[in-house]
Amino acid sequence: MQLPKITILDEKEKILRQKSKEVTFPLTKEEKQDIKDMITYLTMSQIPEESEKYNLRAGMGLAYVQIGKLKRIFVIVEELEDKTFKNYVVINPQIISKSEEMIYVGEGEGCLSVNRAVEGIVPRHARIRVKAYDENGQEYTIRVREDIAVAFQHEIDHLDGILFVDKLETKPYKIQDFREI
Ligand code: ZN
Repeated sequence: MQLPKITILDEKEKILRQKSKEVTFPLTKEEKQDIKDMITYLTMSQIPEESEKYNLRAGMGLAYVQIGKLKRIFVIVEELEDKTFKNYVVINPQIISKSEEMIYVGEGEGCLSVNRAVEGIVPRHARIRVKAYDENGQEYTIRVREDIAVAFQHEIDHLDGILFVDKLETKPYKIQDFREI
């Protein structure tokens, strides 16, 4: 696999604090290529031989703004079993419902734009239903849960200029009723 030429911005870059704009269809060639590149990058970051070779931090999600483009696109690459991956291309997402139940990642969330150790956790909805468009402009609805629901909420925050470090809670947690995953 060839490492795509993308540069992931660090949280110090102010563009990460801006709101991304709605995407219009059809996508441009550049947008289509960028989506492919982001997926390849995330896939390679989760394959140990590739991540070691190129010194990549493992990541499962990337928002378009993290490579410097303010459009409402993100991708998620989920490892299903050894070296089998499921890709999500999510454009102009809208959360249409969310569970009351809240969860958090016990070891803390990570972000390819945050290159430092961070204390604290982020409460997220355990399940959400999202309406979005794929790269062909086809509308779809998806229900996601657990770690994928966390990833979706993390990435949707990026589209609004929010980083997970803005939402950190440290013990004692204000919300009592949420579950560690
Ligand atoms: Zn992130």
